Amino acid sequence: MKAMVLDKPCTPLRELELPTPQPAAGQVLIKVAACGVCRTDLHVVDGDLKEPKLPIIPGHEIVGHVAALGAGVTRFSIGERVGIPWLGRTCGVCRYCLSGQENLCDAPGFTGYQIDSGYAEYTVAQAGYCFPIPGPQGDADVAPWLCAGLIGHRALRMAGDAESIGLYGFGAAAHLVAQVARYEGRRVYAFTRVGDRQAQDFAISLGCAWAGASEERPATELDAAIIFAPVGSLVPEALRAVRKGGTVVLGGIHMSDIPAFPYAIIWGERVVRSVANLTRRDAAEFLALAPKVPLRSRVVPMPLADANLALERLRSGQLTGATVLIP
Ligand SMILES: [Zn+2]
Ligand SMILES: [Zn+2]
Repeated sequence: MKAMVLDKPCTPLRELELPTPQPAAGQVLIKVAACGVCRTDLHVVDGDLKEPKLPIIPGHEIVGHVAALGAGVTRFSIGERVGIPWLGRTCGVCRYCLSGQENLCDAPGFTGYQIDSGYAEYTVAQAGYCFPIPGPQGDADVAPWLCAGLIGHRALRMAGDAESIGLYGFGAAAHLVAQVARYEGRRVYAFTRVGDRQAQDFAISLGCAWAGASEERPATELDAAIIFAPVGSLVPEALRAVRKGGTVVLGGIHMSDIPAFPYAIIWGERVVRSVANLTRRDAAEFLALAPKVPLRSRVVPMPLADANLALERLRSGQLTGATVLIP
């Protein structure tokens, strides 16, 4: 099979011809139909995340079809369409796994980070961590749901019942969260880089009530804000925009340092919290909700061999929506 492989951080992926993997007991072999390119892939490739298996085949927004079943797998049948998210395995015995917080597992394995994954024609995955994806949506349209959508959904849940919600960084995750938030009757405020009219127009076209630069302030105070951009200086910006008792949710896995800020802007029981990974329950909830919205992805399909170009476009912020690699 063809695969795009990272040998070591801060080097380009190499296109290689590798043996097609075989599913072990409890695993499924998936023929990849589409794999989204997530900012976390960029953090793996750029060495911001320190614990990759190397070499690694990245990718954790995979949609594909079951091509073979490992021993003991009865959950799926051959040909069935499934999705594979970031959470690739958990230990099942730590205090987090035993208390409904498997996203915080002490000994997890993450797809495309410790587990070879979707920047390839085939991949194997633990059957218990894959999800059926029925429905008419195209493979490439669904791919961004598997991380941008899922993590966005978990971040939105952490924002509680906020009626007015700010989204900082209007990329793959925010464009999906905005649609879910609108479906739930919330008002959405989109914050982008200064002068990014394309992203601001896109946000308004999705029903956002306001769109502007991160340093700007809408006329109303926000009940909550979610920061998807990996930019620590946005934390005090967002704190200044939320009301007393409001929450600022940090939706990324990596962020530049947060600058010192005056106590006064977090005073008033404002809360700052991160969102880490996902649970399988999050995935089941979100994948049931998405078709009801109905969620529409803005997708830029690219051939698998162009993975380096896709990553470079994400790195330089030239994207509106989500890039998806097609093997
Ligand atoms: Zn665990
Ligand atoms: Zn991701």
